[in-house]
Amino acid sequence: MKLQEHQGKELFKRVGLPVSDGYVASNPQEVEELARKLGGPVVVKAQVLVGGRGKAGGVKLAATPEEARARAGEILGMAIKGELVKRVLVTKAVEIAQEFYLGITLDRSEQMPVVIFSTAGGVEIEEVAKTEPEAIFRFHVRPLEGPHPYQIRNLLFKARIDRGIQGQLFGIFQKLYQAFSEYQANLVEINPLALTPAGELVALDSKFIIDDDALPLLGELAGWRDSEGEGPQERAARKAGLNYVKLNGNIGIIGNGAGLVMATLDMVATLGGRPANFLDIGGGASAEQMEQALKIVLSDPQVEGLFLNIFGGITRCDEVAQGLIEAQRGLQVDKPLVVRLTGTNEEEGRALLRKNGVSPVAEMEEGARRIVELIG
Ligand code: GDP
Ligand code: MN
Repeated sequence: MKLQEHQGKELFKRVGLPVSDGYVASNPQEVEELARKLGGPVVVKAQVLVGGRGKAGGVKLAATPEEARARAGEILGMAIKGELVKRVLVTKAVEIAQEFYLGITLDRSEQMPVVIFSTAGGVEIEEVAKTEPEAIFRFHVRPLEGPHPYQIRNLLFKARIDRGIQGQLFGIFQKLYQAFSEYQANLVEINPLALTPAGELVALDSKFIIDDDALPLLGELAGWRDSEGEGPQERAARKAGLNYVKLNGNIGIIGNGAGLVMATLDMVATLGGRPANFLDIGGGASAEQMEQALKIVLSDPQVEGLFLNIFGGITRCDEVAQGLIEAQRGLQVDKPLVVRLTGTNEEEGRALLRKNGVSPVAEMEEGARRIVELIG
């Protein structure tokens, strides 16, 4: 579960990380009042779950409450990477002398959390990794031990951090790790971690992704899911209990079993196609699930065609075919559809599909090739 910036900052506060005061608002009038309450210059920030808000014009400084109102008027209602801005965070503006980056995420290949720090903060860390790899420092953390003080000190030394702020930064590393482990995160990020001219460090942004499987252990946090930030497809899939991940392409992919769907994405991509999503309908693949899955994928305006890759194991292929036909009838699919059907009772299943105007294929590669040719 991705948290909004203000939610992440709330968790930062709970572990004692320094953040500047702020409030959330959903209309310009409110923003003006809050800016007056905060006093001095403020920053008005779009609360959306996508990154790069600054570049997209979703983060703006305002010197006066009236100006804050005007900036809020511009930001509220704009779309950032397709996500509508419904709320903004108004925070006290902080003067910046230097911007750092600090993040902790899981390094799956090492099977350990990794702490990443950069003296070139503010911009995306992927950019820094490309253009200035020598400005990135990292160390791995053994989960049962937590970060050792010497690891942090060693990093601060290598990054040539000024003595005057080493103590402060040291505490910030420890507290961010505390937030990461206490709230069972897959990723926490402060970018920028700003150094003020007065020598104080403040977290100006937060990125926080909590492991969904840990939510039942985290009490009230489970209720923090911002379903407004979710796309309509994601919401529908979550409600239907389907595993759905939106991607950027134009070929909708549906399959049964996560491994099969992953393999399908790879195959389509290898053949030059661009998958629009990951959607695993699970083992059952009933008519109802099939209808839900088709509905979800077809409601994505980027989808120009569909590839269904079904392996009939426990569920027989003729049942799957029947489900698909019923679903198709209910939905009136008017986009190219390629179906690969194999497994138990495959002959019956394919015959059923043919009778209903869908010509199935037997091999995954053949199916992937066909949909790529159709959509490109
Ligand atoms: P992002 O673009 O989505 O990562 O949003 P950020 O919260 O990181 O804001 C983008 C940029 O706005 C930051 O990198 C800062 O340079 C700037 N910014 C954000 N808050 C402040 C602030 O309080 N004072 C100043 N001077 N700049 C800020
Ligand atoms: Mn940022």
